[in-house]
Amino acid sequence: APRTVLISGCSSGIGLELAVQLAHDPRQRYQVVATMRDLGKKGTLETAAGEALGQTLTVAQLDVCSDESVAQCLNCIQGGEVDVLVNNAGVGLVGPLEGLSLAAMQNVFDTNFFGAVRLVKAVLPSMKRRRQGHIVVVSSVMGLQGVVFNEVYSASKFAMEGFFESLAVQLLQFNIFISLVEPGPVVTEFEGKLLEQVSTAEFPGTDPDTLSYFRDLYLPASRELFHNVGQSPQDVAKVIVKVIGSARPPLRRRTNTRYTPLIALKAMDPSGSLYVRTSHCLLFRWPRLLNLGLRCLACSCFRTPVWPR
Ligand code: NAD
Repeated sequence: APRTVLISGCSSGIGLELAVQLAHDPRQRYQVVATMRDLGKKGTLETAAGEALGQTLTVAQLDVCSDESVAQCLNCIQGGEVDVLVNNAGVGLVGPLEGLSLAAMQNVFDTNFFGAVRLVKAVLPSMKRRRQGHIVVVSSVMGLQGVVFNEVYSASKFAMEGFFESLAVQLLQFNIFISLVEPGPVVTEFEGKLLEQVSTAEFPGTDPDTLSYFRDLYLPASRELFHNVGQSPQDVAKVIVKVIGSARPPLRRRTNTRYTPLIALKAMDPSGSLYVRTSHCLLFRWPRLLNLGLRCLACSCFRTPVWPR
């Protein structure tokens, strides 16, 4: 029988692509429940799903921040049994910390972290009873390394990494697998929404130096990074499809090899200084090097002994 795959956040981006690719699986291995908070936005998904709609793909409402919505959604699934849960829904937050409200920060955790926890709590009893299941989490390279001006978003992904790595140990006993997928930049609405937020935000209470670092250094560098090394949601979804189809799913799967050097910096230097100083150099000393791509950047930092004091 096909495996029931429930995906959160399918109105756009990676979630939409993943739902469509799984629904078009040539071996018809999946019955996809593609969920979204606002069903008014289902048009794009339905068009992309084509013939699969109503066959191997159904659309359902799900707000990961609401217990009631989660319960209602699971009630609509036959037997309430989810074989593969994909925690994809997420929001970003970028900007100088002093200018961001606690409420905005809490919303990031409520969606990215507690949203995933809420869904896991809801599907776990049935997965445990059946001694089978796979929980896939769309994390980020920012769940492995802190990124300047993304402190809260990055913290929410670190929280997911810690939570799911811990849970993976217990769940192995129940034949339930966990996979954290860690994309680098992906060209979706995500970045557009963030840039829209920051273009109108004033970040009250932020000093002029910090504001200028954010607007004049970070934002152009970030745009360039997305442009140079950003992946398409299709490519990221392809990686997730492989992870879901795997007989022994990995705990972690990165999607962008361009990030390997930066992540290696953390492993190479347990004090953490190498990573922090390299990141500092990339932003404050050589932002123009971003044109060359991440691999070159990291190599330049290895070779150049000009660490700031
Ligand atoms: P996206 O904005 O297109 O997709 C995010 C989806 O989550 C949207 O459909 C949005 O409506 C949904 N969502 C937000 N709050 C929700 C809620 N309360 N309930 C249900 N759905 C909700 O962006 P994307 O890039 O496809 O993001 C998908 C995931 O990938 C996110 O978890 C994001 O953190 C992660 N990610 C994105 C990037 C990137 O550069 N775009 C990089 C690494 C990881």
